[in-house]
Amino acid sequence: MLNSSLKQLSALLAAKKVSSVELTREFLRRVKVLNQEYNAFITINEEMSLDQARTADTMIASGVACPLTGIPIAHKDIFCTKGWLTTCGSKMLSSFISPYDAHVIERFNLAGTVNIGKTNMDEFAMGSSNETSFYGPVKNPWDITTVPGGSSGGSACAVAARMVPAATGTDTGGSIRQPAALCGVSGIKPTYGLVSRYGMIAFASSLDQGGPIAKSAADLALMLNVMVGFDARDSTSLLRDQEDYARDLEKPLEGLRIGLPKEYFAEGMSEDVSRAVDAAIVEYNKLGAKIVEVSLPNTKLSIPVYYVLAPAEASSNLSRFDGVRYGHRALEYADLNDMYQKSRTQGFGAEVKRRILIGTYVLSHGYYDAYYIKAQKLRRLIAQDFAEVFKQCEIIMGPTSPTVAFALGEKSSDPLQMYLSDTYTAAASLAGLPGMSIPAGFGNGNRPVGLHIIGNYFSEAQMLNVAHQYQQVMDWHTQMPDITKA
Ligand code: GLN
Repeated sequence: MLNSSLKQLSALLAAKKVSSVELTREFLRRVKVLNQEYNAFITINEEMSLDQARTADTMIASGVACPLTGIPIAHKDIFCTKGWLTTCGSKMLSSFISPYDAHVIERFNLAGTVNIGKTNMDEFAMGSSNETSFYGPVKNPWDITTVPGGSSGGSACAVAARMVPAATGTDTGGSIRQPAALCGVSGIKPTYGLVSRYGMIAFASSLDQGGPIAKSAADLALMLNVMVGFDARDSTSLLRDQEDYARDLEKPLEGLRIGLPKEYFAEGMSEDVSRAVDAAIVEYNKLGAKIVEVSLPNTKLSIPVYYVLAPAEASSNLSRFDGVRYGHRALEYADLNDMYQKSRTQGFGAEVKRRILIGTYVLSHGYYDAYYIKAQKLRRLIAQDFAEVFKQCEIIMGPTSPTVAFALGEKSSDPLQMYLSDTYTAAASLAGLPGMSIPAGFGNGNRPVGLHIIGNYFSEAQMLNVAHQYQQVMDWHTQMPDITKA
């Protein structure tokens, strides 16, 4: 059952071979055993999960089940979840019980899924290794001396260790794709605006986008069917007809043009990653796709641009944590200003403070034009590069991450090295394009390599088709880390 697809689990539930309560108990048991080692979950709440499972069983019995009804799903702790502790990986929110549900959570509740727990993450989603979490780092189940990636590292770890069939994540500059790559699972960040940001704690609003992490492209499609939907409470939510993201999974790939940006295959990518990605491209060629070389000339600007714009937006978004309305408040202070200062000093970790400082700096009078406005202009150029390339191909491929999972502590004292983890993922975020990562073999130390797939706006169904066809001929996505404990 651990390796079953969402479709198989759904069939078992529909045929009453297993109940949602039984399924939930089984996954909870595994979570409890494995979490001691991996630290993938910040909160589990057995009673609340089982309550939802009982509701799901009633839905199934009365014939009103949806495709995911009764299936346990883990949610990144960035999604406000009514009655659940919702921390965003921060001390600032370490006692925040959300009074409401994020739109994404509402949609999963309507679909009748079971929330199995809230997953660990980098503080306020700032990081690429999960080491900035107030709740401590998550371990990569393929090698517990390495990081799972970030910021959705808890979700990626939970899926990789088969603690849960699928999970939610968010991606601002790579936070779904990079941890999916490092943990050997599949993840997709949809086109900006498809998944509502309502109740998704804000990091950089023009980039933040929710999406699923699961074992396969077929599972991601079913998750997206639940997550995507218009929501008037998010001003950037897109009003579009509901799609079935699984509709094109079985299409053959003959005639598909895959662009390989020459800048992605230049220096920077480690040799083991390069080998795996090249081998995946060979498979695509065998599947009938045509490989074309393309160029994204402004690729090297995406990290500097991202690390101006994301902190700028973060510094503004995080000003709401002032110790007054909600979140951590210092116990002792002299006056109002001192209360703000002490609450924020105590509530935020080092990386969050660094981002607030950078963001405030680039937005300040005298620097605004030189940094913030300049970065906005470059952001447009990066998006234009993609528009040009999509005249020559339908899909872009490359590595998700320049290296396989790195050792815990290896980059935590060197922010620049850490930021380079986003080399291949940040550009699609800046352009608002959908991006995904699927397992494509193993590199040094038997650690997973991810293949990055970028599509044009609203091409999620096609991207999932492209990923699914590969997963029909290769079985990397079915491989599990060797876990004997549970
Ligand atoms: N690693 C990037 C950062 O630290 C991306 C994070 C994200 O996508 N949330 O900002």
